[in-house]
Amino acid sequence: PSLVIAVDGTSGSGKSSTSRGVAERLGLRYLDTGAMFRAMTWWLLREGVDVRDGGAVAAAAGRPHIESGTDPLAPTITVDGSDVSVEIRGEDVTAAVSPVSAVPEVRALLLDLQRQVIADGGIVVEGRDIGSVVWPEAEVKVYLSADPDARAVRRAAEQGGTDVATTQQSLLERDRIDSGRATAPLTMAQGAVHVDSTHLTLPEVIDRIVALAEQ
Ligand code: C5P
Repeated sequence: PSLVIAVDGTSGSGKSSTSRGVAERLGLRYLDTGAMFRAMTWWLLREGVDVRDGGAVAAAAGRPHIESGTDPLAPTITVDGSDVSVEIRGEDVTAAVSPVSAVPEVRALLLDLQRQVIADGGIVVEGRDIGSVVWPEAEVKVYLSADPDARAVRRAAEQGGTDVATTQQSLLERDRIDSGRATAPLTMAQGAVHVDSTHLTLPEVIDRIVALAEQ
């Protein structure tokens, strides 16, 4: 199947759970492009690269070998062969990932990898610029959003009860950098359907996207 479903949106809008759910329901593969930017960031931090120095980041970015598994029931992300699924969710990575993702060389490298994975189709891809830059020809494009309060409460719960106010600050800071960068900023792609998940349950959001795909 050549079907590509692009799910873009802000941090904590429910993209991951939604995208995995849609992929499971429709028997498609699943790609978490945020995990690739996180894996790059994790590797840079481990190598001691100054992540606020765009030149240093650009110079190092070609070195790690990043690979994504696309099973929605068990997504994996490896750097030089080691699984870093847990490590990339750490606070240090979360705090550094938006500045790293704003570096054009990082985006160019990961864009190539993303397109290689998507090429065969049959996939739900989540990120910030999938419908606008990575795969504008996607058959279904969704822009997922939710009120900042709802996002912070959900994310804090996911993280095992971190402080909601601190979590909200971190989400909004990432949104600010992700929307303001020069290369592939987060925007609603042309042809995207806006789904606001603030007052919807996860199954309801999944149903809406499945319905769009079946049209
Ligand atoms: O989706 P997630 O919150 O894990 O993404 C982490 C970060 O990776 C985002 O805040 C953004 O800076 C970056 N990202 C991006 N483009 C994508 C996916 C993620 O810039 N397609």
